[in-house]
Amino acid sequence: MFNIILFGPPGSGKGTQSARLVEKYGLIHLSTGDLLRSEISRQTKLGLEAKTIMDRGELVPDVVVVGMIASALEANPGANGFLFDGFPRTVAQSEALDTLLQEKGTSIGVVLALEVSEQELVKRLLNRGLTSGRSDDNSEEVVRARIAEYHKKTSVVAGYYQQFNKVVNIQGEGTVEEIFFLLCSEIDNRLSY
Ligand code: ADP
Repeated sequence: MFNIILFGPPGSGKGTQSARLVEKYGLIHLSTGDLLRSEISRQTKLGLEAKTIMDRGELVPDVVVVGMIASALEANPGANGFLFDGFPRTVAQSEALDTLLQEKGTSIGVVLALEVSEQELVKRLLNRGLTSGRSDDNSEEVVRARIAEYHKKTSVVAGYYQQFNKVVNIQGEGTVEEIFFLLCSEIDNRLSY
């Protein structure tokens, strides 16, 4: 089993690259953003509570997202591996994920961290807001709040995995193809030994 965390700020291209990576490597894609949006569209209690927080650009409580990930891991016992996208976003989530994977006799193989300038992030997110229908993409204030939340709570997650030598930084500006190639090279290097 080979498990990957695709890491990076909002708008760094995690969703776009995840779709390609899961197809190429036969992984299960676990995006907490997608899981939360599915709860919202089904109008579950969890979804309704999460929406208010997401619309402010803040992080939903760790216990909520960790619970969703635990269920998803349970639901896929025969997986080749998982690709985590938008999770973990806090050190507490990272520690919880390590425990969950340990219980399954596996661990994180690599953390691929996409690097994109703040100016480019804001541009991409506002641009996505024009077509995505995502309420958290169409106000500059909310977009900036999400980036601030990333600096405050999420960027430290890279440090958490650096202590285990698991982080590789990837230039996240360029064409989708160029970035995909860089990501695949890092994965292939690790799959070959
Ligand atoms: P993006 O990274 O483009 O901002 P996501 O789809 O990953 O978008 O997440 C959208 C929102 O969902 C976040 O701003 C946050 O409110 C919530 N969210 C997603 N994943 C997590 C997580 N792991 N922990 C806490 N909140 C999360």
